[in-house]
Parts: sequence; C-alpha cells; structure tokens
Amino acid sequence: MNYKRSSELFTAAKKVIPGGVNSPVRAFNAVGGDPIFIEKAEGAYLYDADGNKFIDYINSWGPMILGHAHKPVVDAVVEKAKKGTSFGTPTEIETKIAELAVKMVPNIDKIRFVNSGTEACMSAVRLARGFTGKEKIIKFAGCYHGHSDSFLIQAGSGAVTFGSPNSPGVTKGTAKDTLLADYNNLENVAALIEANKGEIACIILEPVAGNMGCIPPAEGFLGGLRSLCDQNDILLVFDEVMTGFRLAPGGVQERMGIAADIVTFGKVIGGGLPVGAFAARKEIMNYLAPIGPVYQAGTLSGNPLAMAAGLAMLTELDEQREIFKSIEEKTAYLHQGMEKVLVANNIPHTINRLGSMISVHFSEEPVTDFTSAANANNDTFKKFFHGMLDNGIYIAPSAFETWFITEALTYHDLDNTIKAVEAVAKTL
Ligand SMILES: *Cc1c(COP(=O)(O)O)cnc(C)c1O
Repeated sequence: MNYKRSSELFTAAKKVIPGGVNSPVRAFNAVGGDPIFIEKAEGAYLYDADGNKFIDYINSWGPMILGHAHKPVVDAVVEKAKKGTSFGTPTEIETKIAELAVKMVPNIDKIRFVNSGTEACMSAVRLARGFTGKEKIIKFAGCYHGHSDSFLIQAGSGAVTFGSPNSPGVTKGTAKDTLLADYNNLENVAALIEANKGEIACIILEPVAGNMGCIPPAEGFLGGLRSLCDQNDILLVFDEVMTGFRLAPGGVQERMGIAADIVTFGKVIGGGLPVGAFAARKEIMNYLAPIGPVYQAGTLSGNPLAMAAGLAMLTELDEQREIFKSIEEKTAYLHQGMEKVLVANNIPHTINRLGSMISVHFSEEPVTDFTSAANANNDTFKKFFHGMLDNGIYIAPSAFETWFITEALTYHDLDNTIKAVEAVAKTL
C-alpha cells in the first residue's frame, strides 16, 4: 500500500502540532512509521488520504458502535446545527438524553453531561471526595481514566504505550492521594484499605478493563470490591467510558449484576461527538452545584449538537437491543477464526474477549493484569500491526488497546480479517 500523501500531511502536521497529533495514541511511535491520515469513513470502513480503504477495528476508540456516518446520528446533528450550535442555556434535548440514559442504566437517578471521558472521571472523583469527606482514591495499574492528574499513576492506554504511565507534571502532593492496586487482586485492595483506614473516598476501575488490551474481571472480583466498599464506607466508581452502552444497554452493572455508586460514561454516549457524563443515585448527585457544594461546570457541556448525536445513538441502541447480541456474536466469530489461524501457525498468543471487546496478546500466559499484559511480545505485535495494515485492516497501533467491534461489520468483512491474520501469521 502507498501512504505517500499521509506521510506528507504528517510532515506538515509535525511542524505545528506536537508529534503531529492531538492525542498521542494516534501516533505510530509504538509500532514505527507514520500515522495514516483519514479523509472519510462510512460503516465499517475508513478511507485515507492516499485513497486506501481499511476495515476499521478502532472505531474512533469505541464510539462508532453502529459504524461510521450512521445516518440517524448524522441527520440529527445536521438538523440541530441549522438551529444554532451553542447557547449556554438549558435546552430540552439535555433532559431527553438524561431521561433515556437513566432509564437504560441501573442504579442511577441523575446524570450530568460533560465534554469527555477525562472530565467525567475527574468530576466523579471530586464528587466522591466531596460526598465522603475523604481524600484518597484507589486505582488499578493499567486502568486508564483519562489524563487528569490523579489518574496518571501507572495509567494504561497511551500513557503506557508512550512510556509515561507516571507523567511528569503531576505533583507529589496529588500522586500521594492515589493508591495503586493490581487488577483482579482483591487481597491487594483489602491491604491498601487496611493501611489507610478511614481515608479512602473511592475505588475507581474499568469494570472490564480495556486499556491494557481487554482484561475481564476475574470471578468474584467486582463483587469483592463491592463488599469491601460497603464495609468501609467507600464509594465504588465504575469507569464505563468504554463499556457503557457497549457491553449491555446498562453497561457492566447490568451485565454482571454488580451495582456501582458512581458511573462514568464517554465514547458511545456521544455518538462520535465530544461527550462524557457521570451519574449516580440522587443523594450523591445532589451534592453537585448549583444545589450542592461540589463545583463542576462547562461552557459547552450538554452542547446541542453533541446531545443530538448522543440521543440518536442511545435511541437506536435502546430500540434495537438485538444489536448487543449481534455484535457479540460477530466478535465471537472473529475470536474463533483468529484463534484457529494463530494456533495453526504456532504463534504464541492469548485472545481475551468480553462482549464486543477483544484483544490479541502475543503471550502464552493468561493475561489478567497489567504485568501479564506488559509481558507479551511487542516485536511480534509490531509486525502483526503493519502486516494487518498492509492487508487493509486497521487495528490500534499499540498492544495495550482493545479492538472495538461495530455492528456495521459484515461476516464477509470478518472473513477478510481472518484471512489477513492468516497471511500475516505466516510472516511472524
Ligand atoms: C477513553 C477512556 C477515558 C477517557 O476519555 P476521553 O474522552 O478520551 O477523555 C476514560 N476512561 C476509559 C475507561 C476510557 O476508555
């Protein structure tokens, strides 16, 4: 494949944008080479600046669960835009999407909309601290909750891909309030709680991790955290920015039957526009300004275009719940196909999957936490990534990312993907 125009665009971008990208995960540093510049997308496909077509497994890192340029979403945005793009006043559509989200997601009475998953998680933790009057938080190595200071402690996703899981610029004062635990390790969490008795406001986690590849919670892990939180007056925060409206209409809370105290959203909830949200039962949400003491705000929060996209997306998912089963079946089909090919070619690997989240780790050991994810063979991943790209398959340029399956993928696309894996496996 020819990437000439993309490389020219990248050269121009690097002069005026640090690293040529507005979010590090888009760069190809971890796999080598220049990123490809996308011109347009439709359904399951991306089209780049050189006219190449790719089957897309990034899907804007999760939001495009129904495929790119999905008509009901695009139409809703276009119609709204004609009436003005932002007013800085309340609008009816904010209540409509809030009502729908509260209906779809268990254990929440109220929801507030923000502009990104980062903002949602940052605000959720402030709210947890304000509500409990405690300062420390527990997070897990390899989990990513956006780029706000308290979370850049052993963070996953781009932070680990680019070698800065503990970013310079985060003060020691902030870092000391974030306690770090190992994913899927309840004893570790219990010990931290014991050592910091009465000081922990919340435990935040990805209830199905997706930012160190896909790592499902071990049997009893989420339930164990729920009990530890109940016994110690700690709030349990599920970061469902990736899993919300993807693994079930009501996210992991519904799927696994475990209640969180605060839930954060992003990605799918915005239908591809910049939206995040956090939600909880009313006693907690009423702690927010203007009715409560915890301050949180945003000039563009609840923006009409963003709400129109989000409402169209959630409406589709709510009205066509068979979609969740359908994408899960597609993901299982891909899983089986890839598994067969990798086994036949003697490539050491572990495929993790839950619902429509899947990832391939080039490791023979089970991948259950950050350490086991980091032990996979990155050289093999690099070759795999470029091989797939040259075969027209666009997966994330990092071994620490999940593949996102969209309903727009056909079984023909999945077969083509499995064929590409077969062709690439022979070269590994
Ligand atoms: C993507 C992501 C975030 C951050 O969301 P942004 O919109 O990129 O700020 C937070 N948490 C999880 C689990 C994510 O996957």
